[in-house]
Amino acid sequence: MMADGASGLALAGAVLLGLVVGSFLNVVIHRLPRMLERRWAQEDALAAGRPVPDEAPFHLAFPPSTCPQCGHRLAPWENIPVLSWLLLRGRCSACRAPIPLHYPLVEIATGAWFGYAAWRWGLTPAGAAWAAFGATLLALAVIDWHTTLLPDDLTLPLTWAGLIASTLGWTGVALADALWGAVAGYLSLWIVYQVFKRLTGREGMGFGDFKLFAALGAWLGWQALIPVILLASISGAGVGIFMKFTGGLREGGYVPFGPFLALGGFAAVAGLTPSFWRALGLTL
Ligand SMILES: [Zn+2]
Repeated sequence: MMADGASGLALAGAVLLGLVVGSFLNVVIHRLPRMLERRWAQEDALAAGRPVPDEAPFHLAFPPSTCPQCGHRLAPWENIPVLSWLLLRGRCSACRAPIPLHYPLVEIATGAWFGYAAWRWGLTPAGAAWAAFGATLLALAVIDWHTTLLPDDLTLPLTWAGLIASTLGWTGVALADALWGAVAGYLSLWIVYQVFKRLTGREGMGFGDFKLFAALGAWLGWQALIPVILLASISGAGVGIFMKFTGGLREGGYVPFGPFLALGGFAAVAGLTPSFWRALGLTL
C-alpha cells in the first residue's frame, strides 16, 4: 500500500537517487576523517610554531577515486552504485584487491532508506528532509564504527537542520519539543560522562556522542530520547559482549556508541507511532 500517493515510479526514482547518494556517502565516510586529521595536524603545527605541512589538495571532490591498494583510477563504469561492485565481483579491476563489502552495503542501505522516505512521506519536503537525516545518520554511524570519530561537520549541521525542519513543520515535532530535545540530548549524556569519569577515571564516550544525541533530540523531540538511549544501550551492550567473546573487540575494549545511537534514531523514525512506544513499555 502506498502512503501519500507515491507512485511506483516515484519510489523507484527515490531508490535510485538513494543509491547515488549512498555512493557519495562512501566518499564522505572515507575522506572526511582523513580531512579532519590533516586539519588537526595543520592546527597543531601552527600552534607549536612549526612549519605547516604543505600537502596536495584533498577534499570530497578531489582527487578522483582510486584503488587504495594500487592507485588505479576508477573508470566511470567502476563508479556505478552496487552494480560496479557486482560486475567487479568485489575486486579492483587492476590489482584484484578486495573492495570491502561495506561500499555496496552503504549504497543499498541509503537506497532503501530513500525508498522508505518516499513511501512514507511522498515526494515532499518532509520526505526529502527525512531522507537527508537518514543519509547523515548512516554516514556518522559508519565513520564512528571505523574511526571512533563523530565529526562536528556532520553532527552540528544535523542538529541545526532538525530545528529548522521542525520550524517548517517537516518533522511533525513542535519546535519547543525539538529545542528541548537538542538540549536534553546533549546534557543528559554529558552528565553521564562526567559521573562515569569521576567514578572510574575513564571516559565512557566522547563529545561527539553528546552532539549526535542532541541532533536526534532536535529531529525526534525530547520524548524520543529515552526510547532511543534504551535501544542504543541494549544493542551496544549486546554487540560489545558478542565481540568480546568472538575476539573482535578493538584495543581497550572500546565499542563506539555512535552506531547504536544512530540505530536507535532509525528505529525511532520508523516507529514514530504510539504503538511502537507502547511496545517498548513507554507511553508518552
Ligand atoms: Zn587496485
